[in-house]
Amino acid sequence: MLDCAIIGGGPAGLTAGLYATRGGLKRVSLFEMGMPGGQITQSSEIENYPGFFEEGKTGMDMMNTWQEQCFHFGLKHEMKKVDNITKTGEYFTIVLENGTKVEALTVIVCTGSVPKRAGFNGEDEFFGKGVSTCATCDGFFYKGKPVTVLGGGDTALEEALYLSNICSDVYVVHRRETFRAAPPTMERVLKKENIHLVTDSVIEEAYGGMMGLDGVKIKNTKTNEITDMPNTGLFVFVGLNVRNEVLKDEKDEFICKTNASGQVIVDLSMRTSVAGLYAAGDLRIEAPKQVVSAAGDGSIAALQVLSYIQEMD
Ligand code: FAD
Ligand code: NAP
Repeated sequence: MLDCAIIGGGPAGLTAGLYATRGGLKRVSLFEMGMPGGQITQSSEIENYPGFFEEGKTGMDMMNTWQEQCFHFGLKHEMKKVDNITKTGEYFTIVLENGTKVEALTVIVCTGSVPKRAGFNGEDEFFGKGVSTCATCDGFFYKGKPVTVLGGGDTALEEALYLSNICSDVYVVHRRETFRAAPPTMERVLKKENIHLVTDSVIEEAYGGMMGLDGVKIKNTKTNEITDMPNTGLFVFVGLNVRNEVLKDEKDEFICKTNASGQVIVDLSMRTSVAGLYAAGDLRIEAPKQVVSAAGDGSIAALQVLSYIQEMD
């Protein structure tokens, strides 16, 4: 029986593990289906994590040191995907992908979010074959070539900046005239001569053949004019969907309260509607979707777990 099972090894899960183990819990396991680190490992640059401000340092650089610190105090890492969680009486059962069952007194769910699909023709067909959601992973394939970026938020504009250092030209296609991205990011974008803002526009179609994407057609929604962009990679950054599947039972119903978007409803202590079950990071309602706040959530949830277990004794 674990004292605490942590599902997801991004900033929220790792921090929860650090606080739970340093707080004295002996049996704490973090279930992460890939390498720990979370979505920030895809980021090419971090400017807003206090104490980590060095040009050229990536999200991967940042999370490598987090892992070392978080595992130092006894947190166990199991590289396993969790299928679902159930509660019977006072205990939780965590069912892993291979069918193995693990019991725990408490659970902190930190499964984060994944990039949304935009829904244009060809997006699914050429996903991974020219259509990407990771500039750090795939940007280098377009060295010296033009690329198209879809989206107008922080992710799209930050990744456009990253791509502008590798690619000949970056065309940022956004459906409105104004951008959501933070003002300092916009300032940097506007200074880059090889970033071109294509506003009031959408991707009409991504086209190609057996070998992958050949190009995209961009439609101006005001004039209906279509522009063909041959020989381009396409990077899609149109927001995120929460990863909440582990909280669904066999009837496909959530075991705790969620809002209409599937975000987990928590109080200020990261408590869900089920006693002993906590949610932290991007997965929760009103998440600011920042590394610093995900880490803060993880620490709060772990401190609550310590009190909850103490009260059980
Ligand atoms: P995540 O980081 O999403 O981690 C969740 C983890 O859970 C993942 O590792 C996943 O593999 C795992 N998981 C999911 N389901 C399961 C399962 N069933 N079983 C086991 N494991 C599972 N924030 C900033 O503050 N500054 C930035 O500069 C910044 N830049 C960003 C750039 C990019 C390209 C992206 C994508 C995001 C950026 N963010 C930035 C946002 C930041 O990365 C997130 O807010 C943060 O990572 C959320 O942390 P989390 O722990 O809640 O979730
Ligand atoms: P986001 O802020 O939700 O922005 C998504 C962008 O995509 C918006 O500009 C949106 O247009 C556009 N869009 C949505 N659906 C679309 C569609 N179907 N077709 C075309 N365009 C579409 O998403 P994000 O940029 O991934 O950021 C997610 C969260 O993480 C935010 O809270 C963000 O602040 C945070 N984040 C922070 C940092 C940082 O702090 N440095 C970095 C990355 C992410 P509209 O504007 O018209 O809605």
